[in-house]
Amino acid sequence: MATACSIRVRGVVQGVGFRPFVYRLARAHMLSGWVLNGQRGVEIHLEGTEEELAAFVEDMKNKPPAAAQIAEIEVETAECEGLRAFTIRESERLGRPTVRVSPDLPVCEECLAELFDSSDQRFGYPYINCTNCGPRYSVILELPYDRPNTTMRKWPMDRYCSDEYRDPANRRFHAQPVACPECGPSYFLLEGMATISDGEAAIARAARLLREGKIVAVKGIGGYHLACDARNGEANRALRERKFRKEKPFAVMAKNLETARELIRVTPDAEALLLSLARPIVLASRKVELDGVAPDNTELGVMLPYTPVHHLLFAAGAPDALVMTSANRSSEPIAYQEDDAVERLAGIADAFLIGERPIARRVDDSVARAGVFGPTILRRSRGYAPGAVAVLPTQQPILALGADLKNTITLVVNGEAFVSQHIGDLDHYQAFRAFEETVNDLISMYDVRFEDLLVAHDCHPQYASTMHALGLPAARRCAVQHHRAHLVSVLAERGAWEEMVVGVSVDGTGYGDDGSIWGGEIFAGSVAGGFERVAHLRQAALAGGDAAARYPVQAAAGFLSQLDSAPDLTAEPFYFGSRFVNAVQLVRRDVRAFPTTSMGRLFDAGAALLGFVRETSFEGQAAIWLEQLARKASSNDAYPFPFSDGELDFRPLLTAVIQERLRGRPVSEIARAFQRGIAKGLAATVRTVSEERGIYNVVLSGGVFQNELLLQDLKPLLETEKLRIWVNHAVPPNDGGISLGQAAIAVFAQGWDNGGSYA
Ligand SMILES: [Zn+2]
Ligand SMILES: [Zn+2]
Repeated sequence: MATACSIRVRGVVQGVGFRPFVYRLARAHMLSGWVLNGQRGVEIHLEGTEEELAAFVEDMKNKPPAAAQIAEIEVETAECEGLRAFTIRESERLGRPTVRVSPDLPVCEECLAELFDSSDQRFGYPYINCTNCGPRYSVILELPYDRPNTTMRKWPMDRYCSDEYRDPANRRFHAQPVACPECGPSYFLLEGMATISDGEAAIARAARLLREGKIVAVKGIGGYHLACDARNGEANRALRERKFRKEKPFAVMAKNLETARELIRVTPDAEALLLSLARPIVLASRKVELDGVAPDNTELGVMLPYTPVHHLLFAAGAPDALVMTSANRSSEPIAYQEDDAVERLAGIADAFLIGERPIARRVDDSVARAGVFGPTILRRSRGYAPGAVAVLPTQQPILALGADLKNTITLVVNGEAFVSQHIGDLDHYQAFRAFEETVNDLISMYDVRFEDLLVAHDCHPQYASTMHALGLPAARRCAVQHHRAHLVSVLAERGAWEEMVVGVSVDGTGYGDDGSIWGGEIFAGSVAGGFERVAHLRQAALAGGDAAARYPVQAAAGFLSQLDSAPDLTAEPFYFGSRFVNAVQLVRRDVRAFPTTSMGRLFDAGAALLGFVRETSFEGQAAIWLEQLARKASSNDAYPFPFSDGELDFRPLLTAVIQERLRGRPVSEIARAFQRGIAKGLAATVRTVSEERGIYNVVLSGGVFQNELLLQDLKPLLETEKLRIWVNHAVPPNDGGISLGQAAIAVFAQGWDNGGSYA
């Protein structure tokens, strides 16, 4: 007796080989019916015996394709139509899509085996892929995910590919970007006026140029990389010079896991990250010194090859460790279109290895670390975006525009929060353009109308993202305080709306409730009820405001002028320059001096006292420098950083640094005691607030928690029987996580007494 049911599957189920999987599964269970990619996910109609129907659902739940993520399965009984076979039907596009777009996937083992099999049709073909691997987000032009809606639409399949594409038993059944050397796009090499158009010869030449110490721009999945031999100091220095990138570390692509092990300390957790489907750049302690790759840093960022062209380059003899840095000039977004790349990178790259398949949108490499509290994503982009990271209790479409540094945006549709790829620092024109593009891209991909949106944005009136929010034709707007957004990003990941927490939100800069520059804030409360600021870093003056972030001595002036007896800091061993003297003058006269509680600036002050007296060349550099310095010490004392009356007092901390410096203690030991002092001070604050209020969940977020040593120090201090520590795992603790927190606060803020204001 045949019965029928209809099934709807939501989650990451399109572009991950789900329909072919369903097809094979239905045949295995002798079921008839059909499957299609609908607007609301994958829709399945099944007819057969009740036992087989039930077995099908079990198998679908338990053995889905590797890259699929099933969020929800709805099963309903249906009318039996007496169907004889199982078929895959054309996609439907009616209303608003609610499917999730899959992130880009690394080339799979089976495709890799074919890539290096000389008898295979796709031997050496840089665009080999199948339903288990290959590009997704970076080739999708619109939903649903079908070939005519991808950047592959201008390459009609030949007989060979279309036979595979149509064969339900084949791994390439409905693999949208499928192609072969006969019918698909290829790679070519531009070197000066010369072009090598044969793909194999182009890759061989690129590998040779890399061996010779040249810089080659290589088109990948979500943009161009600039590549050179990581073990060639001269090449690395040339790349820095031409790219105007003074000191910020370069990422390295290792040929394989063995090479990665030579470069960095690969713990089991780090290995899992290296091999994860996102293939992020993984930060870990370095084992070798690569001249010019990561100056002043004990860590190195390493990733493994993820596109076929990377594997082909290494197989063609490219050096086994390649610097692979986003192809751009400093602070600009990654280049992803040919004309743009060749124009912007002329003078940087000696040659261009260009793939013909267009990139639909730029997606940078992601950066992650196997941290002491578990995996942390520091830059969430390729391989993760635009995956959903949280489910919010709302049907209201929400667009959250993030902060101006390390910007990402979040779009909430049917309660699912999709976080965009890393966009960058919006004060750069190119990044702001990318921001506008990404807003329009996500809005149109999910078919949301601006008029229906609740738009969440930062409270900072001068942020480019705020001004953009105010210009959108939205239904409603909600201004969200920066540091509460950090905390709520952690709680949104967990769906912890009601839980009371003590929240530590520490970073460089954010606009506070009182208009001052916040950054060392402790809150108590819940997402549903709002957060009260219960403690903070003692306030100091910041001469020159946010601009002081680039000059640690300038940031230090306001903190140091509160000390009772400070020595002449322009003299030995400090050598602070005129910028410090001028800043002290501004602070004394209260001219262009802004009140701040920024923990990031306190780290800058510490770094300045320890010898970082130059201008920084990237955000957070002085704090990273201090952390790296502290890692070299084995001492275990801590300088006092006392907490009382709601205030963490930095004066004893900085006084100790100065005295020890004058006494001639090694700077690494001073840095270590400074770091540990901060950890102890924060832990004491958390414990006090926790006891006073009877709240035992603790949230740590904000850019300062990119400091892994600080987390290592905090862990034993906080992980007591009573306290539970929650940190970010799905979005970054830095400002890349702000948009998620904004979106979640926008859902609840109407009920808050403070912090969430509606416009
Ligand atoms: Zn594959
Ligand atoms: Zn073909």
